[in-house]
Amino acid sequence: MAKRINVTKTHLPSLAEYQNLVEEIWESGQLTNYGEKATLLQNNLKSHLDVKHLQLATNGTIAIQIAIKALELKGEIITTPFSYVATVSSIVWEGCTPVFVDIRASDYCIDPDKIEAAITDRTSAILATHVYGNPCAVEQIQEIATKHNLKVIYDAAHAFDVKINGRSVLTYGDISTISFHATKVFHSGEGGAIISQNEELAHRISYLGNFGHNGPEDFYGLGVNGKVSEFHAALGLCVLPHMPSIIANRRNTVELYDSLLIDELRIARMSIAENVTHNYSYYPVLLQSEQSLLEVKDALNEANIFPRRYFYPSLNKLPYLRNHTTMPIAESVSERILCLPLSSDQDNDDTAKICSIILKNL
Ligand SMILES: *Cc1c(COP(=O)(O)O)cnc(C)c1O
Repeated sequence: MAKRINVTKTHLPSLAEYQNLVEEIWESGQLTNYGEKATLLQNNLKSHLDVKHLQLATNGTIAIQIAIKALELKGEIITTPFSYVATVSSIVWEGCTPVFVDIRASDYCIDPDKIEAAITDRTSAILATHVYGNPCAVEQIQEIATKHNLKVIYDAAHAFDVKINGRSVLTYGDISTISFHATKVFHSGEGGAIISQNEELAHRISYLGNFGHNGPEDFYGLGVNGKVSEFHAALGLCVLPHMPSIIANRRNTVELYDSLLIDELRIARMSIAENVTHNYSYYPVLLQSEQSLLEVKDALNEANIFPRRYFYPSLNKLPYLRNHTTMPIAESVSERILCLPLSSDQDNDDTAKICSIILKNL
């Protein structure tokens, strides 16, 4: 049997490096509560990503929930049907109603031209995802938000190190949230962060994620446990210095995929704007029909290769939503899109084999 190739493979730093940090944690005796490792990772990430305020969180989902709480959102939140379930489940979890706006076929992000039609007097915010690290139409979204007095949150789970004209994509909107899950480009096993550009908001975010504490015996207000352990932070500290090579290696694989699939007109590939510095987080291919996708996926699975239908299904179809709307573009894309294997150390031979199986089974 051929070796198994998954849609993603976690980048593992040197075990010795991690063990060194674990020994330091052992010596300190402090395993959590924003100790030395979490504080250092927080500061290193702030300068690496060039953002003003960054608060580490347990994961990218709690980061979204804290963002919604921090902005005191109520009523309806305009969002995208084409994202991971955590974007929409967080809205529902926080007692708000997701109102879907369809995506653009060109970049799979929320269609800014369709947002205004979805605004009602109950709308409090726009929560959009930079899909596969491809930035949303951030300028146009901000104009709409300003005009209608709405907050903007970006689910930037895919967007580590992504820039627009050299500026971090994480600096747009009121808050950006990010995930450091083991499947993401930068990871700490589990983890995430909440990024904001405003001091007062950053302060609210910091106590919301730490039970609301203001010192051991006082509380600013309501809070939750959104902390990160020293072990997760230490893993992040080991991965962070390798980001340039992680991204460069992924870029090589993406360029090989591109060159091998370039003549195949039955496959649409993601296009990234000229002014965007991408992070090569995913390699999605859009097939002509769901039938074609299923055939390609089966053929790859036979060869022990496991691409992922991501994102599928379209989130407007989630069973726990009350009003089921139709989102023609998101539904069509989610039925036909397949993320191919991509990691920081993928063999070129494997990439070539994946492409040859796809081309044979179209
Ligand atoms: C991974 C992901 C999340 C959730 O992050 P976790 O750290 O797994 O909780 C949210 N949104 C998107 C778009 C994601 O890809």
